[in-house]
Amino acid sequence: MRWSHSYIPTLKEAPGDAEIISHKLLVRAGMIRKLTSGVYTWLPLGLRTLNKAAGIVRAEMNRAGAQEVLMPMVIPADLWRESGRWDHYGKDLLRIRDRHDRDFCLGPTHEEVVTDLIRGEVRSYRQLPLNLYQIQTKFRDEIRPRFGLMRGREFMMKDAYSFDRDDAGADESYRNMFEAYKRIFKRMALRFRPVEADSGAIGGNFSHEFMVLAETGEDTIAYCTACEWSANVERAAVRAPAAGGNPAENPSCPAPEEVSTPGQHSIEEVCAFLKVPAEKLIKTLIYVVDGKPVAALVRGDRELNEIKLKNLLDADSVEMASPEQVEAWTGAPVGFAGPVGFAARSGGVVVADHGLIGGTDWIVGANKADAHLLHVDLTRDAGELQYADLALITESDVCPHCGGAIRLAKGIEVGHVFKLGVKYSKPLNAVFLDENGKEQPIVMGCYGIGVSRVVAACIEQNNDEGGILFPPPLAPFDLEVLNLDPKNPEAAAKAEEIYRLLGEEGLDVLLDDREERPGVKFKDADLLGLPMQIVIGGKSLGRGVVEVKNRKTGEKGELPADTANDGFLAAFRAWRANVMAAWGLEACPPF
Ligand code: ATP
Ligand code: MG
Repeated sequence: MRWSHSYIPTLKEAPGDAEIISHKLLVRAGMIRKLTSGVYTWLPLGLRTLNKAAGIVRAEMNRAGAQEVLMPMVIPADLWRESGRWDHYGKDLLRIRDRHDRDFCLGPTHEEVVTDLIRGEVRSYRQLPLNLYQIQTKFRDEIRPRFGLMRGREFMMKDAYSFDRDDAGADESYRNMFEAYKRIFKRMALRFRPVEADSGAIGGNFSHEFMVLAETGEDTIAYCTACEWSANVERAAVRAPAAGGNPAENPSCPAPEEVSTPGQHSIEEVCAFLKVPAEKLIKTLIYVVDGKPVAALVRGDRELNEIKLKNLLDADSVEMASPEQVEAWTGAPVGFAGPVGFAARSGGVVVADHGLIGGTDWIVGANKADAHLLHVDLTRDAGELQYADLALITESDVCPHCGGAIRLAKGIEVGHVFKLGVKYSKPLNAVFLDENGKEQPIVMGCYGIGVSRVVAACIEQNNDEGGILFPPPLAPFDLEVLNLDPKNPEAAAKAEEIYRLLGEEGLDVLLDDREERPGVKFKDADLLGLPMQIVIGGKSLGRGVVEVKNRKTGEKGELPADTANDGFLAAFRAWRANVMAAWGLEACPPF
C-alpha cells in the first residue's frame, strides 16, 4: 500500500484521556479513534492488526477442531432469565427494549445463546463432543471503561463453547483449548503465562487465565519460583500459618481493655500511637454483601482479598460500607470498627482470615469513637465467626503447593478458559441421550480471547520511546519502504521496484512515498513500528546500497540495491531471517 493514498492519520500528541502507552500509541499511530467512552473505530492500520490477531486465533481454533459460527449480538431477555443471569449479571449488561416492549440485552458473552442453539438439535451422545466458536463484537457496560482497547465497552472477542458427554470429555476439551491458547499466544510472539483464575460472573468449576506479561498490566499474578504453580492474586490461595497468625500472642490472654486512641483511624496511626507492630492488630473491614452487613477481619499487616470474600459468601455484590453504614452498624465513625459485639449490633456476620486462627491477645477497634480494645481473643470475645482464606497473597507467603518462594508480576488478561460443567445446560435443559438411552445434561466449557485487547497488550509489551515494536505476526504490514527522495527519479524507481519485488515475495509492504521531510518519515516509521524498515535515498543508492533497520533491536545494515539479479533478494531473505530470530520466531516461512 502506498502511504500517499492511505488513511494513516498519525499524531504528534496523544489525546489527554490516554493514560497507558498502548492507548497513546494506538491513537498516535492512526490505528484507532474514539467515538465515545470505551467505544472505538478501527482505522485501516488498526484493523489490519486486529485481523491478523483474529486470523491466528481462527487458524488455531480450526486446527483444534472447533467450528466457527456467528451468533446474534442482540439477545432476548427470556433466555437470560432462564439461566438466572438476567438478575445476577448486574449493570455491565446493557439492556434494551424493542417496539413491543420486550426486553433484550447486547451480548456480553454467549453461553445462553449457544446452549439454546444446541439444546434444540443435539439429542444423542453420537453428536458429541462439539466445539463452536465465534469472533464477534461484545458489549459490556463497564463501570470504568479505560485504557483504550484494554477495557472497552464494545470490544472484539473470540468465544468458544465445548459440549461433552461427561466430565472426562469436558476435561479433555479443556486441555485441548488450553494447548490451542498456548499455540495462539506463542504464534503471536507474545510473552505470556497461563495462571489459575477466579471464574467470576461466568461461573464454573475451574479456570485459567492467559496473561500477557507487562509492567502496566491491571492484573497481578503470583508465581512460585520453585514449581510450576501460578495464579491470579484474585484467587491465589494463602496457606494458613501452622501456629496462629499473631507472632506476639499471649497464651493467657488478659481480659479485653479499652484504650483511648483519639483520632487514630488507620492501622499505621494506631500502631504508631500504641507503639506496637501491625501484626498485633486486626483490621476490621465493614462491607455490604448483597445488602447485608459483614465485618471481615485480617491481620493488621495484610490486605483483604474481596474476591475471596465474595466467593466465600457466594455473593452477587460486595461493596465497602459507606461511612453512614459503618456508623450505624458499629456505633463509631470509620476507623474504630472491631469484631466484638459487631454481629449483635448490626445483625450481620463476622468472617475472619484463617491466618488469625489460634492467635490471641489482639488489638481491635472498640466500636466506639476514638477507642480500641487490647487483649482480645477472637474465640473468647468475638462470638460466632467463620474462618476462611481471605487474605491477598504477598511475596512473604509461600507457594500453596510446594512451599517455595512466591514472586508477584503484572499481567494483562488476554484469554480465559473455564470448565462450566452443567451450570448452563441444567437450567436451560440441554440434555442428550447416552448409550443406555438415559437423559444426561451436556457438560460444557467456555473459552474467551479478547482479540482487541490482544492488540493493546501486544503494544503494552512491545514499545520504546519512538513508538510501537510490532511482533511480525501482528504487524499491520510486514515492512515499510521509506523513500527519502520521492522527487529523485532514480530513488522513486528503486522504491517502486523493491515495493513490487517484495510484494511478489508474498509480503505486505507499506511504501512511504509522501512528499515529506526524511525526519517526518523516520519518526512515523518508528511510531508505526513495522518490524522491518528499508530506507531508500539518493546518497546510499550512489554507493549501490539501500539501508535497513530492525525496528526491535534498532540494528541497522545495508542490502545491495541491485535488484536486477538475485543479490538484493538473497540478502533481504537472510536479513529477514535475522529479524524473525530477534522475535524468537522461526526463520521465514517458505516464500
Ligand atoms: P476482566 O477481568 O478483565 O474484566 P473478564 O473476566 O470479565 O475480564 P471474560 O468474561 O473471561 O473477561 O472475557 C474473555 C476475554 O475478553 C478476557 O480474557 C479479556 O481478554 C476480554 N475482555 C473482557 N472484558 C473486556 C473489555 N471490557 N474490553 C476488552 N476486552 C475484554
Ligand atoms: Mg470483566
